[in-house]
Amino acid sequence: MLERIRIVLIGTSHPGNIGGVARAMHNMGLADLALVAPRCEVITQDSISRASGADHLLHQAVIHATLEDAVADCTLAVGASARSRTLPWPMISPRELAERLPSECHQEGAHVALVFGREDSGLTNAELQRCHAHVHIPTNADFSSLNLAAAVQVLAYECRMAWLIQATPEPVSDNEDELATHAELERYFEHLERTLIAIDFHDPAQPRQLMARLRRLYLRARPEKMEMNILRGILSATEKAADRQQP
Ligand code: SAH
Repeated sequence: MLERIRIVLIGTSHPGNIGGVARAMHNMGLADLALVAPRCEVITQDSISRASGADHLLHQAVIHATLEDAVADCTLAVGASARSRTLPWPMISPRELAERLPSECHQEGAHVALVFGREDSGLTNAELQRCHAHVHIPTNADFSSLNLAAAVQVLAYECRMAWLIQATPEPVSDNEDELATHAELERYFEHLERTLIAIDFHDPAQPRQLMARLRRLYLRARPEKMEMNILRGILSATEKAADRQQP
C-alpha cells in the first residue's frame, strides 16, 4: 500500500524543505516523491542535510512541468490545504483519508497522490480543483499553516498507521486464551455465593446487592477459562479452610 502513495510538491522554493519531506517520507516508509516545477535546486547541501540519510529519495525524485503530468497515472489525488477556499469541495480529515487508503490502493495499478503547495502561497484554486478531495490538518485557526515538511509528516504518519492496522493479523487465540462461557460464569457465581456465605461475608437475608455488584465486576473483566479455573480453585481452598475452622 505505501509504495502506491506519491507525495507531490508543487513549486517548492526551499531545498531544506524538500530534504525535510524526504526524511519524513522515509521515516514513514514512503518513497515516491514527485516535484512539480520546483523553484529551487533539489540537491543542495541544505536539502541533503535536512534529509539526514534519506537523500536517496531526493535523487529518485521525478521532476514534472505540471501537476497533470505528476498525477497522470493516479486514481485518486488529494490536495492538502491549510485554508478553506471559496468554492466548497469534498473535504476530509487526515484520519478519513487514511481510512480510505487500503481500499483505494487495493486495485491493480492504483496510485494515490497527496498534493502539497508552495511555502508562500499554498495551492492555487485551479490546482485544488484538479484534486478529488481536499485534506485539512486541524490546526489552530489563528495559525493554521504548517511547515511543508511538517504537513507531509502528519499525513505520512496517518498513511503508515492505516497500513500498520491493515498489516497486523488478527490475534490467533489458543485454548488458554478462550473466554469463559456464560454457563461457566454462572457456575462460578453460584460457587462464589456459597463460599461467601460459608465465610460469613454474605448474608442472603441482607444481600445489599453484593452478588449483583460482583457479577458486574467479573463480567467487566471478561475472564478466560483458565482464569475461571484459578478463581474456582481459590474458592474451593477457601471452603476447605473455613471447614477446618469450624468448632
Ligand atoms: N501560506 C500557505 C501555506 C503554505 S504551507 C497558505 O496559506 O496556503 C505549504 C503547504 O503545506 C500547503 O500548501 C499545504 O499543502 C500544506 N499544509 C500546511 N498546513 C496545512 C494544514 N493545516 N492542513 C493541510 N495542509 C497543510
